[in-house]
Amino acid sequence: MQVLIVNQSEVSRLLPMDACMEAMARALAAVTRGEARLPLRQVLMLPDQAGAFAVMPAYLGSLPALGLKAITVFPGNHGTELDSHQGAVLLFETRRGSLRAVMDASSITAIRTAAVSGVATRLLARADAGDLALIGTGVQALKHLESMSQARRLRRVRAWSRSAENVRAFVGRAQRFLGIAVEPAAGAREAAKGADLVCTVTSSREPVLEGEWLAPGAHVNAVGASLPTARELDTAAVVRARLFVDRRESALSEAGDFLVPRSEGAIDDSHIRGELGELLLGQCAGRRSESEVTVFKSLGLAVEDVASAQLIYDRALKSGLGSWVELGGARDAGG
Ligand code: NDP
Repeated sequence: MQVLIVNQSEVSRLLPMDACMEAMARALAAVTRGEARLPLRQVLMLPDQAGAFAVMPAYLGSLPALGLKAITVFPGNHGTELDSHQGAVLLFETRRGSLRAVMDASSITAIRTAAVSGVATRLLARADAGDLALIGTGVQALKHLESMSQARRLRRVRAWSRSAENVRAFVGRAQRFLGIAVEPAAGAREAAKGADLVCTVTSSREPVLEGEWLAPGAHVNAVGASLPTARELDTAAVVRARLFVDRRESALSEAGDFLVPRSEGAIDDSHIRGELGELLLGQCAGRRSESEVTVFKSLGLAVEDVASAQLIYDRALKSGLGSWVELGGARDAGG
């Protein structure tokens, strides 16, 4: 069986942000229509908590596509030459179950996560939103800057993370890769002040954004925390907002940003107003006024990786990018 290998730079060429946003919208709508199968992800924590290993399978009937992401998350890699998220996405075909492709997961994760936030921003942010605050200056921050610039016309961008050196380096990367000027902010509060778009993209387990800092009408993409005990938003931010998620079942089991305020009795399950797929299909109401605060809580779904992988595969076949290896899968090949 010939299997296509797609490396990190090839993924970046084959998965442009605008095409990924369209693919993510289609995949999220398919989830809501019941056309996907995706169990909750399995997360194995290493004994010293230095890293986690997540396994995320999904079947997307609307394509059809079948696949799996296996990814390590090592937050301590920030500042090293290695991404905090490393692994592979495996793509299978659904007629005989053969493996089609193995692809770099760092780049797929970076792009598809920002693309989903872009979809959420198009659905939920005010039409004139353009004052962006990035809380966090790592891999996701740069990709979110790209997706936010495609979702809305940006007038001003401020960024903050704990290390001033990291912020400076981010300002340089934003200029070099995207040609976008970013102002370093003195703190998260200063970054968020008056912003109408806020992306929290940190590996913090404690709140980095407080509800009282948010301007009326702001839209927040809360991306960083994906464990039930970790959160980036304080309780006030979640209580104040009209809350949307990528998938209810995942949020009810994995989203500390929702689960901690619920455990405090500040909200109940009905505080989740809808999934992005429901918004896309017109099954729930999004923003209802210019002054309302909206939050999209992103956890990341395996269908996003599988839909991205299918798109990359299709584009690789057309462009000739990637390398083929003979891997196996044949009956009685050993004689
Ligand atoms: P990086 O390692 O590249 O960057 C992490 C960022 O978090 C850095 O800017 C770091 O900057 C900042 N940070 C770390 N700790 C804190 C803290 N306590 N307070 C404030 N800032 C902090 O990671 P990524 O950009 O790849 O990912 C960011 C987060 O998004 C991670 O938690 C990751 O797991 C999550 N993620 C979520 C996905 C989803 O689908 N929802 C998908 C992929 C990632 P500094 O050290 O300067 O503070």
